Amino acid sequence: MKTISLIVPAYNEEKNITPLYEKLEETVFGPLKNKYAFELVFVNDGSRDKTEEEIEKLAAIHPEIKFIDFSRNFGKEIATTAGINNCAGDACLMIDADLQHPAELIPQFIEKWKEGYEVVVGVRKNNAGHGLKTLGAKAFYAILNKISEVKVIPGATDFRLIDRAVINEFNRFTESNRMTRALIDWLGFRRAYIYFDANERLNGEASYSLWKLTQLAFNGFISLSMVPLKLAGYFGAVITLLSGILGVYILLGKYIFHWYFAYISSNVVDLAVFTVFLVGIILISLGFISFYIANIQKEVIGRPMYVIRKKKI
Ligand code: UDP
Ligand code: MG
Repeated sequence: MKTISLIVPAYNEEKNITPLYEKLEETVFGPLKNKYAFELVFVNDGSRDKTEEEIEKLAAIHPEIKFIDFSRNFGKEIATTAGINNCAGDACLMIDADLQHPAELIPQFIEKWKEGYEVVVGVRKNNAGHGLKTLGAKAFYAILNKISEVKVIPGATDFRLIDRAVINEFNRFTESNRMTRALIDWLGFRRAYIYFDANERLNGEASYSLWKLTQLAFNGFISLSMVPLKLAGYFGAVITLLSGILGVYILLGKYIFHWYFAYISSNVVDLAVFTVFLVGIILISLGFISFYIANIQKEVIGRPMYVIRKKKI
């Protein structure tokens, strides 16, 4: 009998742990218990509420429940990574703790896996989040697909199943600045897609603030594409060209042909506009470069990706 690991990253989800378990029991473990063995791996990502107690309480009753407790909050990407690193299944499936991912579709994921697909991706049709996040997500995917070598489907989520072969390859990644789903996309393999409508979060607040999501998107760009680094060069070229043309226009207009607009603008204004503009460009370029350097710095130091306080695996 094949084993499937369900991986649940959880940060401040005390009220959702038991409902999630009950839902999984009802829609997955119960109906499929004659066909597959399951393990449920909670990764408690440094929660400050009673998430840990809730998980341990359940784990004491149900032997198939495993857990990893981080020493502090490391973020969802790292939490799912720890789950994948430590799970024992022939396949694993990641699902959010807040019941936004419809557990009743899990048998369909498993069905696709049995058909021979190694990566089964849940793609979100709607978006239960608020407007700005949806808009941001759209922009993110549009830009990412333009500038990176890996094509990512808009709406593709972390709600996905991966085969043991993919897990083993995934475990070779060492970068700690990561976006789990983008790494899985990078790996390739045969993939299938399952479309779903995301539910509203059951209890508590989404802990991914707009700011955190923006950082995640930015990290995605930086780690998957070299285009922002090259942007500095493109900006520089365009600016030099434009300011060159403008400079020539002003020189000719002022001193030779007496063109109206060139003639009335004062030298100080001309200079100020150019300077401010150029300083802005230089700062943008420096900003991009420093992000890359920060990234290199982090990876070179090679700190462990996460620290485990306690685990039952
Ligand atoms: N999560 C986590 N660490 C964090 C933030 C979130 O493990 O630092 C978990 C969270 O408990 C949930 C999943 O990641 O299971 C998705 O988080 P959330 O619902 O806050 O985000 P969204 O629904 O907006 O993607
Ligand atoms: Mg959520």
